[in-house]
Amino acid sequence: MRSEFLPFAQPLLGEEEIGEVVHCLRSGWLTTGQKVKQFEREFTEFTGARHALAVNSCTAALHLALEAVGVGPGDEVITTPMTFTATAAVIEHLGARPVLADVDPRTLNIDPAQIERRLSARTKAILPVHFAGQACDMDAICAIARDRGVPIIEDAAHAIPTRYKGRLVGTLSDVTCFSFYATKNVTTGEGGMVTTDRDDLMERMRLMHLHGMSKDAWKRYTQAGSWSYEILAPGFKYNLTDIAAAIGVHQLRKAEDFRRRRLAIADAYDAALGGLPGVRLPQVDDREGHGWHLYVIQVDPEQLTIGRDQFIERLVARNIGVSVHFIPLHIHPYYRERYSLQPGDFPNAFAAYERILSLPIYAKMSDEDVRNVADAVRDIAEEARR
Ligand SMILES: *Cc1c(COP(=O)(O)O)cnc(C)c1O
Repeated sequence: MRSEFLPFAQPLLGEEEIGEVVHCLRSGWLTTGQKVKQFEREFTEFTGARHALAVNSCTAALHLALEAVGVGPGDEVITTPMTFTATAAVIEHLGARPVLADVDPRTLNIDPAQIERRLSARTKAILPVHFAGQACDMDAICAIARDRGVPIIEDAAHAIPTRYKGRLVGTLSDVTCFSFYATKNVTTGEGGMVTTDRDDLMERMRLMHLHGMSKDAWKRYTQAGSWSYEILAPGFKYNLTDIAAAIGVHQLRKAEDFRRRRLAIADAYDAALGGLPGVRLPQVDDREGHGWHLYVIQVDPEQLTIGRDQFIERLVARNIGVSVHFIPLHIHPYYRERYSLQPGDFPNAFAAYERILSLPIYAKMSDEDVRNVADAVRDIAEEARR
């Protein structure tokens, strides 16, 4: 058994990030400025998107995107129960209603057929989440959206880099929202990015991300700037700092290497755990296209004497950090009570919830860490075999 606890997630930061942050601190310019501009430019080059706007979280990105496409009171936005609360909370912030559509039991991604069933005259946007870093069925979702003239906003918090039929997530729909939270594939501590090819949406999001002001601080406080500005709307305070962007530019350059390392870890888990009774591995069609943010296994109570919760307790007792992605939205008191939801309303999400657990998968893990996790899962499953 491991003598030291293995955290569920950890960032991999190098001297490049540290040096760039120090450089930023010495420069005297801390908030949104040239580093953010560089990060945005390099993000458009990376994804191939026409525009990128750096913000201080994916939550902010989602809020701005929904506001820009005109989501407001009385509207409905279709999304998945298998996500983090932020995806739905921003819909609530705009006075709209999150309408949940059940997931495909194989991928745990939103099921396009279920989206179709939930469409109404009030549907103002569709908000798919690329669960674990595996792309949703975007051809089917885009076809539904096109038929109805409804925009798509992607929650790509797990999906950098994720490819769908060879194309990077970030250019597949109207707006894509990324997260640089500390546990995500690319991190700036806290941060996010929004990409779009649409000039009108970027103009609105750029305006709203910083007070609804006609000029940003960089333009106001440099010699070339002027003191004058106009408030065009009651905007938000969602700008990213140059300190965060200094980390981000180097993390972005390593995004492909990080992905390859996570893919190698997924391959090692598959090899070590394949065929193990009582443990179902992630169902993946395109291993190279998958972003591998999460490696989610399912514990089968029919083949084991213990359930998911005890499986987690035993992993933690063996010094392996694990997590659950996600407690479906409709199980949480707020959404359950507000919309009178029952667990069985989304049977696939609920059935998965009772069985899922996420194993550590991050670039900083050593081969020995990976072996320790696989050995622990195997030992526990074998001990608990019916
Ligand atoms: C992490 C996460 C978010 C929120 O990202 P922040 O950058 O922390 O705001 C949104 N959606 C999903 C699916 C996430 O995993």
